[in-house]
Amino acid sequence: MARIVVVGSANVDLVAQTPHLPEPGETVLGSGFMTAMGGKGANQAVGAARLGAVVTFVARVGDDAFGQQCLAAYAKEGIDTRYVGITPETPTGIALIAVAADGENTIIVASGANMTLTPDDVARAEPAFQGADVLVLQLEVPLETSIAAARLAHKHNLRVVLNPAPARHLPDELLREIDIITPNRIELAQMMHLSEAEVQVLPDADLARTALKLGPPAVVITLGAEGALVADSGGWTRVPAFEVRAVDTTAAGDAFNAGLAVALARGADLVDAVRYANACGALAATKLGAQPSLPTGDEVDRLLHTIRE
Ligand code: ADP
Repeated sequence: MARIVVVGSANVDLVAQTPHLPEPGETVLGSGFMTAMGGKGANQAVGAARLGAVVTFVARVGDDAFGQQCLAAYAKEGIDTRYVGITPETPTGIALIAVAADGENTIIVASGANMTLTPDDVARAEPAFQGADVLVLQLEVPLETSIAAARLAHKHNLRVVLNPAPARHLPDELLREIDIITPNRIELAQMMHLSEAEVQVLPDADLARTALKLGPPAVVITLGAEGALVADSGGWTRVPAFEVRAVDTTAAGDAFNAGLAVALARGADLVDAVRYANACGALAATKLGAQPSLPTGDEVDRLLHTIRE
């Protein structure tokens, strides 16, 4: 049984459709509204649970209706929410998303309770780390909390996967605790202080060499419809994507990271785990939205099976 711990963000996405994005000072009458569960941490926790893993989510929500909605949604996915804390007098993290008719969007993230997740919260969750296989981290909670989680993970022999999103400069204190880092091209460019254009044209060998300079012993660069590049001290391999009819790649990266963690927890080697993760990312790209598009284990097995035949 794959046992995963995710320490990360819980958000509610508030999505309004609008004919055009408002100019500063302008009010626009929108044409539709929906709420959806989001946050990279929550997406990856839900992704792993749908694949059949036993998942503990360590997070913080606010003392408000959105927080209760999050807790109920995670519980429905079978996620252990014992270590999702409620921070008094702080709002649940939200993302205010405006989507214009031409597909352009603007997003404001108000992190709220996510920024109140502390190393003490991680320490309290130690029982969940005992006997778990993989810890998954992103960068939407305080860095010191992620560092504490990675250290605790190593104390209990978990592999530590860091999805460095949204990209930012990372201290060595965190990087040396990471076993596998999973940037996309843009995040890699930002972390290595290169332009996106420079990274775009790098041949695989150079991309691998550049990514390994980040520090962690293994790097998996996600390349959208081009699949993923795996690199470690033994060399590099391009793992091709599954060909699908992509309609919305939102959360493809989250599905990918969830799949990677679950496959590693089940004992797959890194390249096989990336193949499984590619299938998860591809399936997420075939459906609209974030959490609604995260595939189940059966859907992934079907895709892998179809391709093998
Ligand atoms: P992010 O969403 O973080 O930018 P990517 O766009 O690289 O990440 O997508 C993550 C993974 O999802 C890719 O490595 C790939 O496996 C899968 N994926 C994304 N877009 C597609 C696509 N159009 N077709 C097939 N697979 C895709």
